[in-house]
Amino acid sequence: MRINYCGHCFAEITPEVQQCPFCGIVLREWAHSLDYETRLIHTLGHPLADVRMRAIIALGKRGDPQAANPLVRCALRHPIDVVEGLEIVAGLRRLRPGGARSKALDRLARDHPAHAVRRAAAEALAGMALNP
Ligand SMILES: [Zn+2]
Repeated sequence: MRINYCGHCFAEITPEVQQCPFCGIVLREWAHSLDYETRLIHTLGHPLADVRMRAIIALGKRGDPQAANPLVRCALRHPIDVVEGLEIVAGLRRLRPGGARSKALDRLARDHPAHAVRRAAAEALAGMALNP
């Protein structure tokens, strides 16, 4: 049996489902009601790490600072996923300069449980201080 995920609540559903039996959303309408950036940010809540990773990479490439806090929350929700945490630091570095980016990196440098992620965030902050 093939499995899809509801784009809204991420419950497992079959591909032919048009309205999610768990959250009630009409899938096609929901997908079209949000802009791309908002859907990428929402995808940071997906239960599968590879799906979250695609959203993290895309958000870094797009560079919109509104992704800063959602990326930090994603990193802190998955504290043992160091690969994901490091990709989030890399994504944060690529956001357009501003307070949101610096605050996000500072939060990870202080609060992330993984030493490698804290160190990468601190190095990113130090590099930005030299080349703002
Ligand atoms: Zn749903």
